[in-house]
Amino acid sequence: MSFKSTKTAFSIKNNFELKRAYLLFKLISYPFLVGLGKFLIMISVKLRLPVDGLIRLFVFDHFCAGIDEKDSIKIVNLLATKNVKSYLHYSVEGANSEKDYDDCLNSTIKTLEASIINLSLPFSVFKPTGYGSTILFEKKSSNVSFTKGESEEWKRIIERFRVTFSRAKSIGISVFVDAEESWIQPAIDELVEDMMLEFNKERPIVFNTVQMYRNDRFEYLKSLNEKSLKHGFKVGVKLVRGAYMEIERTRALKNNYPSPICDTKEETDIQYDKGIDFMFKNIDRFCMLLGSHNEKSANKAIDLATKNFLPKDHQNLSFGQLYGMSDNITFSLAESGYRVLKYLPYGPVKEVVPYLIRRANENSSVSGQSNRELDMISKELKRRKELKT
Ligand SMILES: Cc1cc2nc3c(=O)[nH]c(=O)nc-3n(C[C@H](O)[C@H](O)[C@H](O)COP(=O)(O)OP(=O)(O)OC[C@H]3O[C@@H](n4cnc5c(N)ncnc54)[C@H](O)[C@@H]3O)c2cc1C
Repeated sequence: MSFKSTKTAFSIKNNFELKRAYLLFKLISYPFLVGLGKFLIMISVKLRLPVDGLIRLFVFDHFCAGIDEKDSIKIVNLLATKNVKSYLHYSVEGANSEKDYDDCLNSTIKTLEASIINLSLPFSVFKPTGYGSTILFEKKSSNVSFTKGESEEWKRIIERFRVTFSRAKSIGISVFVDAEESWIQPAIDELVEDMMLEFNKERPIVFNTVQMYRNDRFEYLKSLNEKSLKHGFKVGVKLVRGAYMEIERTRALKNNYPSPICDTKEETDIQYDKGIDFMFKNIDRFCMLLGSHNEKSANKAIDLATKNFLPKDHQNLSFGQLYGMSDNITFSLAESGYRVLKYLPYGPVKEVVPYLIRRANENSSVSGQSNRELDMISKELKRRKELKT
């Protein structure tokens, strides 16, 4: 698939939205301006300056579905007109109290319940550190024993996971558990696998996220397969490359241990491909969402599906992109009949700032991403202008 049709890619964007996206990606393509923008936004938020309107106009509305569920459902329905499904995430970060964790659970439950009346929301998602303390996840991951109070806290985390999957199962939808940094991931993996054992007997309700920029993750996929064979459960996997490369490398260097991240982008790509191959070989057990903006990865999966005579809408194969990015991949796949999901973050403008900063960093640092977006947007604006004349 060529993913080159800008008409398809931007079929739901009007001219104003396209011009705004152009300006946004142009600014983001200069790391210096990203740094300055981050600084100004953080200062404004700290000083409680009334900048919500500006952030919303220039950045937020491009990458986020809205400030609440009502707003976001409009985007869900708009995407659905093009055969694109969605999953909503209340993207407020920095939870650090039992009340915050319960609030986070409640917001996930709300997104689950939105699926009851909207068939375009077949998945939900949560970030494990929204459900409990990062320190606890880290302790558990390094086998450091808990105090009595921490053991109680951990039990509450397990319960939040269980409540989420149990509600999802009763509604009949699946849930992605986001992947985080490698030093807290072992505890997340263990918990998610326990939940797979409990909830994935008939169909994959629980999805773990596997970051293929980690050099141990192919082995991890193999271990999931073995456990699934042994215990008879379906494996849900969101396969991504990974978003925390710089933090991982810096920490490894600082603490003098080998970095868990592949040395080069090429190695990460090879690992990602191996992951796709492996899951296709075991597609009766693995249900995959390929969370990527990489055209080669999407084409690799399309080739494998074709070679294996799988229908385009096979229930164990979906593709996912973030809202505001790589619309050419999303809408081309959807137009051809593949299952495609957009990840739709939402929440109060100021609270979503950390998510927006990650997107700006990603587009600024991943070579070519901004340029690819800029190239597509300018082609589409030109095409629309020529149509008029
Ligand atoms: C639907 C969806 C869900 C996601 N969920 C998560 C999640 O839960 N957790 C998470 O961590 N990320 C998540 N991500 C982000 C993802 O991990 C990537 O950061 C992002 O998608 C870019 O990778 P790519 O495959 O789209 O594109 P590409 O541009 O092909 O790859 C960029 C990625 O390659 C890797 N890379 C780049 N340079 C190097 C290098 N020098 N050496 C080694 N590796 C390198 C990095 O992982 C980088 O992000 C998600 C992405 C999507 C689309």
